[in-house]
Amino acid sequence: MAVSFRQLAPTFAAEVDGVDCTKPPAPDEVAAIEEGMDRYAVLIFRDQKLDDARQIAFTRRFGELESYTTPGHIRRHEEQRLGSGIADFSNLDKDGGIMPADDRVWFFKLGDRLWHSDSSFRPVPAKYSLLSGRVIPSCGGNTEFADMRAAYDALDERTKAEIEPLVCLHSLIYSRAAIGFTELTEAERAAFRPVRQRLVRTHPVAGRKSLFLSAHAGAIEGWTVPEAQIFLRDLTEHATQPGFVYSHRWRIGDLVMWDNRQTMHRARRFDDRAEVRDVRRTTLAGDVATIEQAAD
Ligand code: MN
Repeated sequence: MAVSFRQLAPTFAAEVDGVDCTKPPAPDEVAAIEEGMDRYAVLIFRDQKLDDARQIAFTRRFGELESYTTPGHIRRHEEQRLGSGIADFSNLDKDGGIMPADDRVWFFKLGDRLWHSDSSFRPVPAKYSLLSGRVIPSCGGNTEFADMRAAYDALDERTKAEIEPLVCLHSLIYSRAAIGFTELTEAERAAFRPVRQRLVRTHPVAGRKSLFLSAHAGAIEGWTVPEAQIFLRDLTEHATQPGFVYSHRWRIGDLVMWDNRQTMHRARRFDDRAEVRDVRRTTLAGDVATIEQAAD
């Protein structure tokens, strides 16, 4: 069956037909999906009966899994519920119980409810993320996406010229401080040292420019912190207007794949004290630091 796409929002996001993600896709399917990613930036595959091994195998057809020696979270290795190669974005602890509301790991996870781009706090940020819905709450818990190409295009020329050369500092310290979670250990602070990212990035295939914003961005080089933070907040408000947003309502068996180079996303609230939301993410490594991209 041929791969086909049905666009879901005015500027991006599409539902995909004709792909069984439980089997490694053939080269022509990989090419069709990559083309779809370049165009739509967010793809939804419905009714996929994935387990962790199959999700990892499917993801690896598109490149290398992201892997770092420094952690991107504060959960200790022995507290983890899942094996390597797949990340746990559930509200469950390692024994399968709902995480206590006052658990600092839970505080840290709540930062994902702010608009962000995955791994923008890494020197080379992530390319694609693939999130599968294994257990979905009865109400709420959507994932929202914002099209950062459309948001860039809609800026006035003066703002485009102003932001073109700007370099931001990204860190998990900034995104967690934004929700009032500042009780990080010295070791965590050292692991989360800020990295530099361009504010405007160009897609390597499509050639389109986009705003590279994220809750992890907390400073702009050469600016005072309050000036930078208020400007980044303004840009984020602009970029997340309803016209640039697709809100994904999860069903069990959904696999959602997005391009972190062209979109931001956030998780929405649900009854996380009474219901389980078990979503699991595989992440494809990016291939270049945004700072290497020439400003033009
Ligand atoms: Mn995320």
